[in-house]
Amino acid sequence: MSNDIASLAKEIAKVADSLNSQMINFLADLIRIQSYTGQEREAVERTLKELTAIGCEEVWMDSAGNALGRIGSGKQLILYDAHLDTNEVADESEWPHLPLEPVIQNGAMWGLGASDCKGGVASIVYGAAILKALKLSGDFSLIVMGATLEEDAEGFALRSLVEKDGLKPDVVLIAEATDLALSIGQRGRCEVRVRTTGKAAHASQPELGENAIMKMVPVLQGLDAMIPSLPKHPVFGTGHQVVSLITGPNTPNSVPSWCEVTLDRRIVPGETAESVLEGIRRVVEPLGAQAYIPDQPVLTHTGQRLDGPSFYPGWELSQDSPLFKSSQKTCQMLWGKPADVIVWKFSTDGAYSAGTAGIPTIGFGPQEAQYIHTPQDQVNLEKVRKAAMFYALFPILYTMQNT
Ligand SMILES: [Zn+2]
Repeated sequence: MSNDIASLAKEIAKVADSLNSQMINFLADLIRIQSYTGQEREAVERTLKELTAIGCEEVWMDSAGNALGRIGSGKQLILYDAHLDTNEVADESEWPHLPLEPVIQNGAMWGLGASDCKGGVASIVYGAAILKALKLSGDFSLIVMGATLEEDAEGFALRSLVEKDGLKPDVVLIAEATDLALSIGQRGRCEVRVRTTGKAAHASQPELGENAIMKMVPVLQGLDAMIPSLPKHPVFGTGHQVVSLITGPNTPNSVPSWCEVTLDRRIVPGETAESVLEGIRRVVEPLGAQAYIPDQPVLTHTGQRLDGPSFYPGWELSQDSPLFKSSQKTCQMLWGKPADVIVWKFSTDGAYSAGTAGIPTIGFGPQEAQYIHTPQDQVNLEKVRKAAMFYALFPILYTMQNT
């Protein structure tokens, strides 16, 4: 069997070579299309066109506006996820090349979203293309997803696909930046707002009011004192809690009637919305303040509201899981050695699939984290090709191991 797989790995490499220029063209086209969060329609349409061209048996856009293609109709439902939306350009003059004009330099394609996450989209689409070109089959249905909304609300578009549209993957593979390593988890994040209430009065007679900003002072000290005792995790380290915003009524000549601070909280696997809020409430409620997790407003390019709590849990995949083992075996068969194993510092759609829904999830992508959200945004094309090979072989090895 091992010999069969070794010759299959060679076949995959050959087809990856023959499809390489087509893949590069697709990636360049995606970079040319501006696709900020909530404005992904054109990138979704371009991806649907490519999914049709590579021979997907079914191609569709779901209600949240994700681009989807399916190959095979077997029992194991494998989902590949890479997002089409990008971070916004802050200052174009800092970019060595124009963000929407793809340029190949030193073997890498430069352009907005190359490293986050369009290089990943090209690799999963062409993984499916190789699989299809070789007519490989197994007891799997492979779904390739060009996801939306990830930059502002990671996991919300995937949640909609699973919970509203009813697609239930057995495993999820996310093609965010890992530099061809396997990512087995991520820290999570959460936004919490803490509010004090006072009583408004004219600033010339403050004795008639209650100053909400002054009430916030001991609350801030209490929040700061929590930091050393935030939950610790053997892999992900300690969480963080940063007071990142402070607001109140915009009335300089009044005693302020309210004051609200925003906390950016980084959380480790195992922390829940309830556990985070409970810890904060224990500190702030005795001081007269209230704490809550706000809703993240989300509007899809299809016009749907997907607002939901601004809570993105962390997660960790066991190295004993069939998903990890077959991912590692895929790397072993393609390159003769196991991949490095990492965890992500940033948050991904895995916050939903693994963190909320409990679906085994792993990360594997060609992009390098150092280029994400920078004017040096780029992805190495040899790594994109290698990632596509991984995505072609994985379903075969996964179903071999799990049927
Ligand atoms: Zn990303």
